[in-house]
Amino acid sequence: MAALQPVRGTHDLIGEAWARHDHVVATARAIAARYGFAPWATPIFEDTSVFSRTLGETSDVVTKEMYSFPDRGGESITLRPEGTAGICRALISNGLTQSLPQKIFYSGPMFRYERPQKGRQRQFHQIGLELIGPAEPLADAEAIARGWDILGELGVANSCVLELNTLGDQASRDAWRAALVAYFTARIDELSDESRARLHRNPLRILDSKSPADRALLADAPLIGGFLTPQAASFYDGVRDHLAHFGVPFRDNPHIVRGLDYYSHTAFEFVTTALGAQGTVLAGGRYDGLIAQMGGPHIPAVGWAAGIERLAMLLDAPPERAAPVSVVPMDEASEAAAVRVLQSLRCGGIAAEMSYRGNFRRRLERANKIASAFAVIIGPDERSAGVAQLKNLATGEQIAVPIGELPARLR
Ligand code: ATP
Ligand code: MG
Repeated sequence: MAALQPVRGTHDLIGEAWARHDHVVATARAIAARYGFAPWATPIFEDTSVFSRTLGETSDVVTKEMYSFPDRGGESITLRPEGTAGICRALISNGLTQSLPQKIFYSGPMFRYERPQKGRQRQFHQIGLELIGPAEPLADAEAIARGWDILGELGVANSCVLELNTLGDQASRDAWRAALVAYFTARIDELSDESRARLHRNPLRILDSKSPADRALLADAPLIGGFLTPQAASFYDGVRDHLAHFGVPFRDNPHIVRGLDYYSHTAFEFVTTALGAQGTVLAGGRYDGLIAQMGGPHIPAVGWAAGIERLAMLLDAPPERAAPVSVVPMDEASEAAAVRVLQSLRCGGIAAEMSYRGNFRRRLERANKIASAFAVIIGPDERSAGVAQLKNLATGEQIAVPIGELPARLR
C-alpha cells in the first residue's frame, strides 16, 4: 500500500512550523486581551447558507472555493472559508444582539478549494478581530490599529504597508456601480469571460479580478472617490484622522476592494512585498449590512482577518523554547528515586525529561542531544544523602543540591 500523504493543500504543523504558528496566535491573543477583545470559538463547519447567503453568490469563495457537502443526514454543510459569517451567526444564535458592543478575537483553521502555492493552502489558518456594534469611524481605526499592533509585536510591521480605501455608503456605491457598468460595457470585448458574466450581477467584483486582461482595463476604470456622498467622504476622513491619532501610517489605494460582498465604507489590506504574489497578510473592512442580511437586527460592524501561514513566513526566527532539564540516574538501582525527582520537578513547574532506558552514559548523551542546560544526576551516594548533583551541561560545573530545593534552584 502506498504511504498515506496529507491532502493536497494541507500541511502538518510540527517543530519549527508549529513554533512559528503558535507564536503568531499567542501574540495576537495577548494583544487582543490587552485591548478588551474576548476570544470566541465557533464551529469549523456551519450550514452552507451561513456562507452562501452572506459572502455573495458571485464571490470567488462561494462560486469556486467552498468545501460543501451533504452530511449523512442530507444537510448541506460547509467547512468555514472565513470567520466573520460564523461569528455573526453566533451573535444572533446566542441572543447577543442587544449586548453591544462586542469586541471579539478568534483564531483557527479555514478551508478553501484553491490552487495550492506559496502562501495559499486549502486548509489555512486565520486570526481575526471583530468590533460589532459601533458605527463610528473611530471603531474602524481601532480595529486597524490593533492589527498594526499585532504586526508590530511580531516584528513584521516594517515590511508591511497599510493600504486604505472606502467603498462608500449605499448611495455612493450605487452611483459608482452604474459608472463601472457603463465603463466595462464600452470595453466588453476586452473583458475576461468571467468578468463579462459578472458585469451586471456584481461589477465591483471585476476590480478584484486576477485576470491580466481585466487588470489592464482597471487602470482607467472610474474610482469610488468621484462618487462619494458628503457623509461617506466625511466618514472616510474620520477613519484617516483617527488612524493618525493612533499613529498608524497608511496610504490611500483606491483599487482596494474586498473579495467578499458584505463590505461598505472602509476596506483595507496590510500588504508586503516579501512574499511574492501572495502579498496580503491582513485584510478587512466595515460590514454594516451583514448581520441584518443574516436575519438579525441592523448592527454595524468592522473587522479583519490575517493569514497565520503568511505571517509565520514573515517572522524572522521562530521564538526559542527553553529545553527541559534532564534527570539522569547513575545506575539501575537509582531509577526509582530519579522518577520521583522527575515527578517533583514537573509538579514544581519545571519542564523535565528522563530517558526511558539506557545506562548513565547514554542518558547523559541524550540530555546533551535535547539541549538541556542542566542535568539532575542521582546515584547511590546522592540517594543516601537526600541530594542530587545539579550539573551545568555547558560548563561542566556540578553542585550537590537537596532534592527539595531543586525546583526553586532551577527556576
Ligand atoms: P487573496 O486575494 O490572497 O486570495 P482573500 O481576499 O481571498 O486573499 P481574505 O478572505 O480577505 O483573503 O482573507 C484574509 C487573509 O487570509 C488573507 O489576506 C491571507 O493572508 C489569508 N488567506 C486567504 N486565503 C488563504 C489561503 N488559501 N491560504 C493561506 N492564506 C490565505
Ligand atoms: Mg482568495
